[in-house]
Amino acid sequence: MRFCTRLGRDHRKFGALNDHYPAVGACLLDSLARFAGPAWSPELAAVWTRAYGLVAQVMAQGADHDALLGPAVWPAEIIHHVHRGRGIAEITVRPQSPYPYLAGQYASVETPWEPKAWRYYSPSHAPRADSTLTFHVRAVTGGRVSTALVHHARVGDMIRLGPAQGDMTLDPTTDRNLLCVAGGTGLAPIQALVEQAARSGMERFTDVFIGARTADELYGLDDMLRLSQRHHWLSVRAAVSHERIPGLEGNLPEILRDFGPWYRHEAFLSGPVEMVTQAASVLLRQGVTPSRIHHDPFDVPALEAALLPRRFEAEARAL
Ligand SMILES: Cc1cc2nc3c(=O)[nH]c(=O)nc-3n(C[C@H](O)[C@H](O)[C@H](O)COP(=O)(O)OP(=O)(O)OC[C@H]3O[C@@H](n4cnc5c(N)ncnc54)[C@H](O)[C@@H]3O)c2cc1C
Repeated sequence: MRFCTRLGRDHRKFGALNDHYPAVGACLLDSLARFAGPAWSPELAAVWTRAYGLVAQVMAQGADHDALLGPAVWPAEIIHHVHRGRGIAEITVRPQSPYPYLAGQYASVETPWEPKAWRYYSPSHAPRADSTLTFHVRAVTGGRVSTALVHHARVGDMIRLGPAQGDMTLDPTTDRNLLCVAGGTGLAPIQALVEQAARSGMERFTDVFIGARTADELYGLDDMLRLSQRHHWLSVRAAVSHERIPGLEGNLPEILRDFGPWYRHEAFLSGPVEMVTQAASVLLRQGVTPSRIHHDPFDVPALEAALLPRRFEAEARAL
């Protein structure tokens, strides 16, 4: 239910209307019948019709409810664009109306250069009073949207934001200490969470680990170190895996193993899929319960959001 409700909400940004669902259902059933060939039967047709009808109903309800709360998309003007080196741009936008989100969530973004290609980017800060948002975007080789945002976007250009998504947020009802692990531009939501933790005034002891292959790639470390000088409860450590430097050496999951145990912490993991998966395994082995391991979905959020916790639960059961 939750998954389909979110899917319906997310489809508003594509311009999906309730009237479209029956036509899509008819096409889906025709395609299934065509490709199933002789295996297609009236019973199968009835089951698929019921299943699609239920999904469409829940999606439409999700979209209707969301329409009462806010717009389908937020046009936003780029007001600041600065290159931070290594193909990363820091991009600040001002939405035409306030954009609701929680620290740690991500926004879907559509650019004028690649219409209909929506990608996800995480604001690197807790919500601001002036409603502006700053994203850290890394240009992926051959990437359509990221290269446009990093290399073509200019101050004054307009982009569109879809609704904020993601469960990697702070639970205000607990004061458990925090473990945050970030690789690459995965630091953005971690920065937002730390900022939110600072605002809450709860002084939850927070360990942040930032990883990269080389010291040169340790993006955003200075900002986090400055924050740690202001807050006694915040400790920031950086590690590199492919270079000898004074300090921590190795990949983040290995480093976590050396610094644990973390079973009393709430863990937030953000970065490349491999890093997040391995770090989650280390934490599970140290007795952290799956419900306390938070991370973004890896690829298509709407499709993965409901599935990943179960993946980790299966791993936890196997230990
Ligand atoms: C929840 C979530 C939050 C995200 N937050 C951020 C963020 O804050 N900052 C940020 O820069 N990116 C972030 N991303 C990644 C971003 O959404 C895009 O996937 C990325 O910018 C590539 O989009 P593209 O259109 O340029 O590449 P595409 O045209 O979609 O892909 C081009 C090629 O690049 C490969 N590719 C796609 N993504 C990556 C990647 N991340 N690394 C290496 N190769 C890749 C594809 O497999 C393909 O071969 C996030 C992704 C998710 C799911």
